Amino acid sequence: MSEDGQDPWDEVPSVAELLAAAVADIGGEERPGQVAMAEAVEQAIETGEHLAVQAGTGTGKSLAYLVPAIRYAVTNRSTVVVATATIALQRQLIDRDLPRLVTALRPLLDREPAYAILKGRRNYLCLHRQRGGPDDQDALFEPVDTGPASPLGRQVKRLHEWAEVTITGDRDELVPGVPDAAWRQVSVTAQECIGAQRCPFGSRCFAEKAREAAAKAHVVVTNHALLAIDATSDIDVLPGHDVVIIDEAHDLVDRVTSATTGELSGPAVDAAARRAGRFTESAADQGGASGVADQLRQVAAALTLDLGDAPAGRMDVLADTLAAMLRSVHDAARACADAIMASAAGLEEDPQQLAAARMTLASLDELGRTADRILEVFVDKIADRREVVWLDRPFTEDARRPPTLRVAPLEVGPVLRERLFGGRTVTLTSATLALGGSFAPLAIQWGLGAPDAADHLTWKGLDVGSPFDHPRSGILYVARHLPPPGRDQLPEAYLTELEELIDAAGGRTLGLFSSMRAAVQAAGALRERIKQPLLCQGDDVTAQLVRQFAEDEPTCLFGTLSLWQGVDVPGPALQLVVIDRIPFPRPDDPLASARQRAVAAHGGNGFMTVAAAHAALLLAQGAGRLLRTMTDRGVIAVLDPRLVTARYSGFLRASLPPFWTTTDPALVRAALRRLSATGSPPGR
Ligand code: SF4
Repeated sequence: MSEDGQDPWDEVPSVAELLAAAVADIGGEERPGQVAMAEAVEQAIETGEHLAVQAGTGTGKSLAYLVPAIRYAVTNRSTVVVATATIALQRQLIDRDLPRLVTALRPLLDREPAYAILKGRRNYLCLHRQRGGPDDQDALFEPVDTGPASPLGRQVKRLHEWAEVTITGDRDELVPGVPDAAWRQVSVTAQECIGAQRCPFGSRCFAEKAREAAAKAHVVVTNHALLAIDATSDIDVLPGHDVVIIDEAHDLVDRVTSATTGELSGPAVDAAARRAGRFTESAADQGGASGVADQLRQVAAALTLDLGDAPAGRMDVLADTLAAMLRSVHDAARACADAIMASAAGLEEDPQQLAAARMTLASLDELGRTADRILEVFVDKIADRREVVWLDRPFTEDARRPPTLRVAPLEVGPVLRERLFGGRTVTLTSATLALGGSFAPLAIQWGLGAPDAADHLTWKGLDVGSPFDHPRSGILYVARHLPPPGRDQLPEAYLTELEELIDAAGGRTLGLFSSMRAAVQAAGALRERIKQPLLCQGDDVTAQLVRQFAEDEPTCLFGTLSLWQGVDVPGPALQLVVIDRIPFPRPDDPLASARQRAVAAHGGNGFMTVAAAHAALLLAQGAGRLLRTMTDRGVIAVLDPRLVTARYSGFLRASLPPFWTTTDPALVRAALRRLSATGSPPGR
């Protein structure tokens, strides 16, 4: 009920009317899937029942959730949070969809819906830091040369120039971007910020302005990571809200896992110790604590040596020496923090010193908590553990990245269930949510539970389909005659198959490989065999390669993970998507292997729940690169016979759009030739 006692839902046009007006204003056509989705989102908001909606490319799903979200928020003077995985979708919502929608809906709603974008504090330029706050000379990968002639110095200079003209201070608006090491010189985390009240730049602070705008908005666009932090921590980083829309929800588990992964390395401990030393030394000068920072530096040196010799990969057992070092990290970090706190009273008057102290305390706190968290993991038996620890060792060419201990949750479902789904109505949407034809695999990972489980939350799955005619527009070709993929060099039969397919398609090929090594190997071999230009990820910035690929029809592009999800090339420049093998996680992937083992330990099928579900999601995402508009036509070629021969193949194929399927290489090459010659449908 509204304040005047009337039901607010009676005062404004229905979702169907608003959607029709928005579509007419924007110049589109009514799409049945879009209408069905908008009505389902509205019903979810009304009933409080969570909703998972699969909506294929071309459905117009952003309007389908934004219209009911805006109607609810405006009517109830409330805020709806929309979380995306990628910057590209955030930009699309903020720069294109929301401005047009607000213009279209304003006359019908009789008021102007407000929207804003909000990210974590680290994503905004900090004026205090940039105008003389503490520098990051003790940052992780020391020494950092920020002198004006160094490459990093030039990037920092660019950031200072940009600071004079930017309106938002949002890192994503800086094009081209800068490396993390440069950005760290002009930004702070939430823990490091000295607070707007104390900060001399508080009234002009970009992060504060973004928060103020978000507090007044009906729709706040954010990312999965900030949503996860808001839901899982005790600090409110987002404005109060009771409705959440999660777009690109196929990525939610990975994004939440990343946002909640802790890391610890020798150089990180050393950097914190050196920062702490500046404060503890001055405390010692005044008769206070001394030597605690030195102790932390000694542990850092020992940890660097120990991890330098340790093998990379999952840790099921914690060696006594490493356990002792982690305890020392915890104790010495705590002692440093106590010493700084004891001398902090005099810092209140000096914002610069206060900022430096806060940065130091934040890094000490993070170190102590991560060391403790890693030790905690090994208290339980393997089958009862909730987190996994592994040592990440970078590739040799990135010598600046030290060996790093990581700790991550085996499941994010329990925390999402309690902290996200427990208090809000959530709609999750993506082009790919039903795996093997069912929403249950992802719903279980999110913590909603399978619909037939005794303790499942109330949720509904809805597939509104796709406007594309998949069986008529595309062919799924599985190269059944090839041997199953091995671990070594790509066999000659694969290269010949690739060459013949690309030749038949006249280029226009996106090659999606399960590893960078395979992509580079195939690109190297194929360049000598095909007539068309061939680009490979790593040759240039990926966005530039995709642009070149889209602008020159015969050009081919090979690459790995980011291309599986991030390429949107409509038209004849992309008529063949080649997938080298079913994208299972690597057997030595520490997180996937630990998750698989945990499922098996509790009586489940670890392979199907973890590895097959992961592969199904990626396959569907990769296949989704082919048809981007109603007139697109083409072929998905999977060079892995297991997609038709293995016992799990039915599950994987049921996760893909309903393309017409064949294993006949001659037929598919003929279809590709017809398509490249005439632009007509593959035809069979
Ligand atoms: S309020 Fe915090 S983030 Fe903003 S300028 Fe000051 S220190 Fe930086």
